Amino acid sequence: MSSNERTFRELGLSEYLLRSLDELGYEKPTPIQSASIDPLMAGKDIIGQAQTGTGKTGAFALPLLNKIDMKINAPQILVLAPTRELAVQVAEAFGSYAKHMKGFHVLPIYGGQSMQQQLNALKRGPQVIVGTPGRVMDHMRRGTLKLDSLKALVLDEADEMLKMGFIDDIEWVLEHKPANSQLALFSATMPEQIKRVANKHLSNPVNISIAASHTTVESIDQRFVQVSQHNKLEALVRVLEVENTEGIIIFVRTRNSCVELAEKLEARGYASSPLHGDMNQQARERAVDQLKRGKLDILIATDVAARGLDVERIGHVVNYDIPYDSEAYVHRIGRTGRAGRTGMAILFVTNREMRMLRTIERATNSRISPMKIPSPETVAERRLSRLGEQIQETLNGDLEFMKNAVAELCQQLEVDTDLLAAALLQQVQQERPLQLPTITERQRDSRDERSERGDRNSDRGDRPRRERSDRGSRPAPTSFGSADALKDNPDVKMNRYVIDVGRENGVGVGNIVGAIANEANIDSRFIGQIQLFDQVTTVDLPDGMPKDILSHLKKVRVCGRPLNIREAGDEVFVDSGRGAPRKPRSDRPRGDRPRGDRPAGAERRPRKPRDNG
Ligand code: AMP
Repeated sequence: MSSNERTFRELGLSEYLLRSLDELGYEKPTPIQSASIDPLMAGKDIIGQAQTGTGKTGAFALPLLNKIDMKINAPQILVLAPTRELAVQVAEAFGSYAKHMKGFHVLPIYGGQSMQQQLNALKRGPQVIVGTPGRVMDHMRRGTLKLDSLKALVLDEADEMLKMGFIDDIEWVLEHKPANSQLALFSATMPEQIKRVANKHLSNPVNISIAASHTTVESIDQRFVQVSQHNKLEALVRVLEVENTEGIIIFVRTRNSCVELAEKLEARGYASSPLHGDMNQQARERAVDQLKRGKLDILIATDVAARGLDVERIGHVVNYDIPYDSEAYVHRIGRTGRAGRTGMAILFVTNREMRMLRTIERATNSRISPMKIPSPETVAERRLSRLGEQIQETLNGDLEFMKNAVAELCQQLEVDTDLLAAALLQQVQQERPLQLPTITERQRDSRDERSERGDRNSDRGDRPRRERSDRGSRPAPTSFGSADALKDNPDVKMNRYVIDVGRENGVGVGNIVGAIANEANIDSRFIGQIQLFDQVTTVDLPDGMPKDILSHLKKVRVCGRPLNIREAGDEVFVDSGRGAPRKPRSDRPRGDRPRGDRPAGAERRPRKPRDNG
């Protein structure tokens, strides 16, 4: 991994970029980034063979952003991507990396979005365009997208673009790019036609592929769980509940996700601590020592921080975020199975990362077998039986005083002992409820599946289903639980509320459902549609929510922010790219509500919700 040892600073990125990377919690470049940044900064063409999950977006976005001339308000970088989802995600990555570059604009353009809107946005002179080939070609033909100032063109997921029939459009664009501009081609595979395009258009390209180190891993039982990004936390909790675990180390990608996950697990009553590169030596040693002595059960670590970690007690390694390459995988899982013990390694993979899983299997010469997410029933059974064991211990003690207290409470509350016991059980199990939320394996909106990339710092996972056409239909809004959740209760009248936490705070629908369900004690089936905007989220809840619950919910914090819940009324919410302004209609039954899903295609500038007036 020697070439991977250089830091972002040593790679020569600007202070603006370094600052964003630091805020994002990236600790070091991934292998593909280490290999691509130098040649791209040096103006060379490159061919990068890399899959999703390797950090390839940063591999081209960072060095190319470094070259942008902020005095020029015209496209200097053009990225072609196979789908609008990918285009939006790549644009978001650019936006988050360039967060501190004043006056920076990036624009995703794709079919299905209003031409007029795109024209207006193009007039503002974005320095980076990320588009699907068909729409980019349209604009070039009309003269609304001019490439005179272009410094670099990137073909992202070239093999996917080929599969989708974009090869002619790509060739057309390549033929019309300025001759002196740089070209970078990224592809997971290199079919003949891609090689042909590469040979024709790239000049003396540097070839980059991250060689898999072949290592055999023994004495470790390796499993994978297929799960979407937004269900990872719930899946993790279930795994933790049913596996007989001792010490566990959970790997994540960034410092930020490390801290966040540790907080979430702590909040659910797991003795856990983060372990990342920004903690001082003493704090790190303390955490490791606590794990060794059994004071902590879980460490949530980044690769950097867990280097060399040797704790016999670690029986499980969970790869919550897939590692960037097979070498990192081997390092990670080597933290378990120490001192002749057998260990277990569980890898969380999103649909889009399945290819990476196979690469890891090949490289490690081992089979990683599928594992099911434990069902709510299994988890509830475990919880109940553990509770039974605890109660059994208490039963062995002297309970005379408590028996009297029970009698008194029953009298005071006018309930029988059954009901009192049930209420007490409810209280005791608050952190580990016996009724678990369901995991929905539905297709999700790309915005919600972002990784811990952006200033938004939310999780990105499996990308959504691809559209075959560049001129596809409009995307679905980020919503959850709507029709399904309430289909058995169609008569429940819903009211729309707004809360002060949005995508930029890294919130996912799961966090919101969890917080409301737990804090307001509402069955999650009665939580209706949820729509994430940049800075706020709307949630449909049954009409007539008691005031005291609402005032409690106001103070509840999600992703570090108080919810400050209130009725949405006529507030209009603006999304920085996908959800256009839409007026919530609290007077209609929820099923009739407008979906507010028109892609606005604006630049990636988060905007505040405006008042409607
Ligand atoms: P990609 O392969 O470009 O789809 O990126 C995969 C994920 O890795 C994204 O969630 C990025 O935010 C994240 N990522 C990219 N580079 C780094 C890095 N150097 N350190 C931590 N996370 C990263």
